Amino acid sequence: MTDTSADLVILGGGSGGYACAFRAAELGLSVVLVEKDKVGGTCLHRGCIPTKALLHAAEVADNAREGDQFGVKSSLEGIDMNGVNSYKDSIVAGLHKGLQGLFKANKVTVVEGTGTFEAPNRVRVGGDTYTGKNVVLATGSYAKTLPGLEIGGRVITSDQALNLDYVPEKVVVLGGGVIGVEFASVWRSFGADVTIVEALPRLVPLEDEWASKQLERAFRKRGITFKTGVRFTGATQSDTGVSVSLESGETLEADLLLVAVGRGPNSAGHGYEEAGVAMERGLVTTDERLRTNLPGVYAVGDLVPGLQLAHRGFQQGIFIAEDIAGLAPKVIDETGIPKVTYCKPEVASVGLTEAQAKEKYGADVQTLVYALSGNGKSQILKTQGGVKLIKAPDGPVVGITLVGERVGELIGEAQLIYSWEAHPEDVAPLVHAHPTQNESLGEAFLALAGKPLHVHG
Ligand SMILES: Cc1cc2nc3c(=O)[nH]c(=O)nc-3n(C[C@H](O)[C@H](O)[C@H](O)COP(=O)(O)OP(=O)(O)OC[C@H]3O[C@@H](n4cnc5c(N)ncnc54)[C@H](O)[C@@H]3O)c2cc1C
Repeated sequence: MTDTSADLVILGGGSGGYACAFRAAELGLSVVLVEKDKVGGTCLHRGCIPTKALLHAAEVADNAREGDQFGVKSSLEGIDMNGVNSYKDSIVAGLHKGLQGLFKANKVTVVEGTGTFEAPNRVRVGGDTYTGKNVVLATGSYAKTLPGLEIGGRVITSDQALNLDYVPEKVVVLGGGVIGVEFASVWRSFGADVTIVEALPRLVPLEDEWASKQLERAFRKRGITFKTGVRFTGATQSDTGVSVSLESGETLEADLLLVAVGRGPNSAGHGYEEAGVAMERGLVTTDERLRTNLPGVYAVGDLVPGLQLAHRGFQQGIFIAEDIAGLAPKVIDETGIPKVTYCKPEVASVGLTEAQAKEKYGADVQTLVYALSGNGKSQILKTQGGVKLIKAPDGPVVGITLVGERVGELIGEAQLIYSWEAHPEDVAPLVHAHPTQNESLGEAFLALAGKPLHVHG
């Protein structure tokens, strides 16, 4: 039984927790981080990184299958899931090793074990306690399911989907949000017959309606079936398959049902409620400086209401460390957090959708869509889609959405434009290299500034 004191005690070593730990250590604070599983959390072990490795393997499969389109004689012989998994796992393992090295380099003390938050400012791990001048709650999130839909056997979440050792022949994906469409995309590229069921009227419903339409068109072309505006009513499974029933009366038969209906806060069973941490529907409520209702106690990442994204967690973690160190960092603009959905084609956005902009600025919001058909590099890649700009009346650009293969890599510039509150005339003179997909952003701004170059029709 020991009691250790530190400037900062962090409960959870995912994106939010470790970013906070590293920044605090850089600022000279002593840091203890408690992690019950592996540092790196969901993003590294069960989220961003392994899914993007699968998506890359899917792209390689598509390239092999579609070589003919480019005059390259190639064909897809099949998918060796053991090979795919060992590629994916080697990426995760390499990054995990690197991250462990960063903990050592930053001299952050990692305590392995399940922590319980005990007020005031104390975390217990077994018989040992860790008292911090400040405590950060960073326990993340878990894959949710629907009432009455038990996870097990052929009914899986992303956690199991990441480690399948075979490609299902037929799969139903419940949920057309980011995680659902990413797995649908992977499995389709690997040759599965995929049906997405989404209760809302469109895929990726948080994105601009234009982006949903673009994605739906591309998915249709790829042979991915989707049923939107349809509610799921139940699922039964047997040794040979799973039957999924819908409100419409239809029944879908598949080998697997992926439940991708969102992620819930991992806030139960860690002592939060007993210690009096204010929560709403399980999410830890904070002010804009990420302070909970308890003095000296902060919360970060998926546990806090808002976008559940790793880079938001990183930024929040850094913010908290700087706030504690007295650097008075600027409050994070949630709308300026870029979002990328890495399916084929990708959807990337920052700022407001057209509907949100109209709600905020009225009907005079200006929009412009630049189609990738005018962009040489996108034609070389044979990808379709476009760039949509949204501008406040007599004001700056307040939203940018892109659809197309590889456009996720373009969101960096879009984010700068949004965050610097640029006007089209500020961006139009900036020269974009030819031929790049990046040029499509430049051309969209030329068009919005009234001097279109490669614009058809
Ligand atoms: C399939 C999938 C794909 C995703 N893809 C992307 C993507 O491409 N880009 C992106 O930005 N985001 C993506 N995300 C979201 C991203 O993974 C999360 O937003 C991010 O991991 C949240 O970080 P966090 O620190 O809040 O929580 P987590 O990463 O969940 O970390 C919480 C940590 O706390 C630990 N913990 C919990 N309770 C205790 C306890 N009592 N004691 C000790 N330790 C505890 C857990 O073991 C875990 O390591 C994806 C998520 C999933 C599921």
